[in-house]
Amino acid sequence: MSDFLPILERSLLAICLAALILVAAALIVTWFDIWFDRHFALEKAGAALSRHSEKRFQSLVQNSSDVIIVVSETGIIDYASQSIQRLLGHEAETWLHCNILALVHPQDLAQAQDLLAKVSRSPRAGAVVELQIQDGTGMWRILEVIAHNLIDEPTVAGIVLTCHDITHRKQQEQSLRLLQSVVMQAKDPIIITEATPLDLPGPRILYVNQAFTKITGYEAEEALGKTPRILQGKNTDPEALSKIRTALEAWQPVVVELVNYCKDGTEFWAELSIAPVANEVGWFTHWVAIQRNITERKQAEAEIQNALEQERELRELKSRFISMASHEFRTPLATIMASSDLLKSFGHKLSEEKKLERLNKIQAEVRNMTQLLEEVLLIGKAEAGKMQFNPTRLNLPQLCQDILDELGLASDRHSLTFEQVGDEAEPDGLISADEKLLRHILTNLLSNAIKYSPHGGEVRLKLQYEPASITFQIQDQGIGIPLADQVHLFEPFHRASNAGSIPGTGLGLAIIRYAATLHGGTIQFDSTVGLGSRFTVSIPRFCSAQSPLT
Ligand code: ATP
Ligand code: MG
Repeated sequence: MSDFLPILERSLLAICLAALILVAAALIVTWFDIWFDRHFALEKAGAALSRHSEKRFQSLVQNSSDVIIVVSETGIIDYASQSIQRLLGHEAETWLHCNILALVHPQDLAQAQDLLAKVSRSPRAGAVVELQIQDGTGMWRILEVIAHNLIDEPTVAGIVLTCHDITHRKQQEQSLRLLQSVVMQAKDPIIITEATPLDLPGPRILYVNQAFTKITGYEAEEALGKTPRILQGKNTDPEALSKIRTALEAWQPVVVELVNYCKDGTEFWAELSIAPVANEVGWFTHWVAIQRNITERKQAEAEIQNALEQERELRELKSRFISMASHEFRTPLATIMASSDLLKSFGHKLSEEKKLERLNKIQAEVRNMTQLLEEVLLIGKAEAGKMQFNPTRLNLPQLCQDILDELGLASDRHSLTFEQVGDEAEPDGLISADEKLLRHILTNLLSNAIKYSPHGGEVRLKLQYEPASITFQIQDQGIGIPLADQVHLFEPFHRASNAGSIPGTGLGLAIIRYAATLHGGTIQFDSTVGLGSRFTVSIPRFCSAQSPLT
């Protein structure tokens, strides 16, 4: 019995052990199952996640405006993002295995090779360059290329080039630079001002170029912050300014010509073109003004105008001469003809006295014509600068008295008076002057005084000695000279509007002005219509020949 028990116990123990092992095995299988399932689920989830992020990454790369290219150390393209098609014109696959260096502009090739060499040298190294690359259409594009060495990164195993197309930006920069240098180098002053205020103090100057400084004399620092009004002055045409103002108020471009002033006060003519400048939303922000210096053109215009004016005057002179000549010659010729006809046909019937009267008339007319011809010749000579000037020592009081006596004989309606003022200085009263010319001056002025006082009155000649000069003053109480004629009085053939039928050619004063100028003297007058005129001739005491008038 005692042997039987241990056997039973052993069997039970064995069974228990076996059961235990079975339970343990079952537990292990279940746990492994669970672990296995979980492991695969996790792996699946991980794979899904990595697929998702890869897609995301791909979509990011493809939709990026930048192009990502992976190249070998020698430049062979290993990968190119789809965005390369937008940049270079062909699908990404087309570019695979091409050498990127083949697309680089010859000018930039060395720089591109340097980039690859430099970046290849050390892992994770990076560099940035700008390169010109030829696209599929043959056009050159400018790329900003950022290179990164990821050769030892197993998933990349190459140099990553991130390329950004900066062609447009570069073109804009270039045209901006171009414009800037055009503005800076322009020969015409350029001013940029704020858009407002148009009222005082006016828009402030924000920019002036070098030509502005060169022409106006204002340094940029002096002009900045001021307004363009610094260029205006007393001769700046207010009409031109109001034209500018009207255009500015309407935000319209405008071109005007006006006088501007330099810093030192010198005037210059400017053709001013002003235009408004708008920002990208069309809001006017500035004014740009270009000032072309047109002083030379204006001077040339003035000269042409002058020449035309002189030509017009010459034409007028000619026509005045023709009308004067036809009148002044025809009238005496008609008188001579009539008198000689009378003598010829009826001489036998006329008394000796009447005959003499006719003959005197003929002689007087011939003298008038001769004098007229002489005056025409004299003015011709004077204008050609060939008037003779022979100063000699003259006794002036004597000369004045002689002329007055001669003229007094011809007029009984006028009282001719002579007055001498001042010290003669020279004991014998002699001074140096051209007798012929002086006689011409005095005779003409005195005969004018008589002629243009048809109702008679006093005609006074005053001879005044001054320390350095001698003055002759001829005063009458005649018809006077209208203001409108006074400015033209010394022009040849000009006769005042109130001369009426008083004979004359309008040459006398023109001639005597030349004569006075030859003496180095002057002739002036003042006159009031209806009251009379006063002519004053002044010559230096000791004169030498002066240049005739031009
Ligand atoms: P001439 O050649 O014979 O002298 P003229 O007397 O007409 O002719 P000027 O002596 O040159 O010519 O005078 C020009 C004009 O000036 C005259 O025609 C006349 O209209 C005006 N004038 C000159 N002197 C006087 C004067 N004293 N009073 C009024 N008018 C005058
Ligand atoms: Mg006269």
